[in-house]
Amino acid sequence: MAPIPAPVPQPDRWPIPRLSLRIENLAHPGASIFLEAVNPLAALREAVIASFTWLFTPETVPTNVQTLVLILRPMEGVAHATGGVHNKEIHFSLDYIAKSAARAQDEIRGVLTHEAVHCFQYNALDSCPGGFIEGVADYVRLRAGLGPPHWRQTASGEWDAGYEKTGYFLAWLEKRYGDGTVIELNARMNGVKYDERIFKRTTGRPVAKLWRIYCAYLGERTFQA
Ligand SMILES: [Zn+2]
Repeated sequence: MAPIPAPVPQPDRWPIPRLSLRIENLAHPGASIFLEAVNPLAALREAVIASFTWLFTPETVPTNVQTLVLILRPMEGVAHATGGVHNKEIHFSLDYIAKSAARAQDEIRGVLTHEAVHCFQYNALDSCPGGFIEGVADYVRLRAGLGPPHWRQTASGEWDAGYEKTGYFLAWLEKRYGDGTVIELNARMNGVKYDERIFKRTTGRPVAKLWRIYCAYLGERTFQA
């Protein structure tokens, strides 16, 4: 009997919102760098699908977001996501894109993935620690293969310091406790106040203990290298 083929991901089954692009100054150098580096539709779709793939299942994926607008404009900083339940906006700095010209394609895709996560992830009725929120966004960026070259795993400080530090910790949790661990943590922040015990309920261990094990693991690896 022929082997049963493995299921292949079916991106068309995901509830992708209507996607739009607004460029607030086409003459800005960042605008042409963006348009030369990526296909806007493909880049936005990829970012949304990465968020769905690493934080949900086809059964649990949220369907509330109907429109997602990417707004490229001159501004300070890098990017942020905003909006209500049904309509989301990602604001992305043309100045930052211009500064990232050397690796524009990967950086644009990475930033869009990070911001798309903010449009869909659960945040425990806004009570989730900010560092955890940012860590989930960078976890998805990492899993999508879009972590920038300067990112490093670090074994010091707090687990929820945010960004890639927390992102790598979540990636380790997923590896150690199995596929779907971060999907479960995200699901446990849907419509309820944040409670650190979601880590214990998901993995059997409190987050402080998990962080100690992770730091020891990183220390050991550094020692062996
Ligand atoms: Zn963020």
